[in-house]
Amino acid sequence: MSDETNTYTGQCYCGATKVSVEGDPMVSGFCHCASCRSFHGAPFIGWSVWPSDKVHVTGQMNKTDKVDHLARATCAKCGGKMMGIIKGADMTVVFPNVLAASGAPFHPAWHQFYAERVIDIVDGVSKFIDKPADHGGSGETLSETGEALGATG
Ligand SMILES: [Zn+2]
Ligand SMILES: [Zn+2]
Repeated sequence: MSDETNTYTGQCYCGATKVSVEGDPMVSGFCHCASCRSFHGAPFIGWSVWPSDKVHVTGQMNKTDKVDHLARATCAKCGGKMMGIIKGADMTVVFPNVLAASGAPFHPAWHQFYAERVIDIVDGVSKFIDKPADHGGSGETLSETGEALGATG
């Protein structure tokens, strides 16, 4: 890694809300949980995490506080899914689609809540029943087709 900090800028579907991030994400992955699927209207989602002070927004967003740990935010004009603010952690998830055209790196480290999946993904990336142990989960993993593999992390 170089000392130079890249800045990546992306926008919502309509362009009214823009997001810039400083530097590469701390970690990225995929989530298969029912909340993410319901919010995004998608079979699973990608996520990348930055420290909240590295994420800058212009435009108006609406936020939903349906779940305790995460405030999910959309463009106030078009409803485009923008980010999730992790409460009490000073970290923000920016959805990779927002930044896709910016060249922001996306290197998924794991799939989480794979037990809730609606589609099998064959990509060689680790699949966790919930989350890795060092991220507050059980660390229990599954095969790509859902057989239990035990704890690995
Ligand atoms: Zn918009
Ligand atoms: Zn999720």
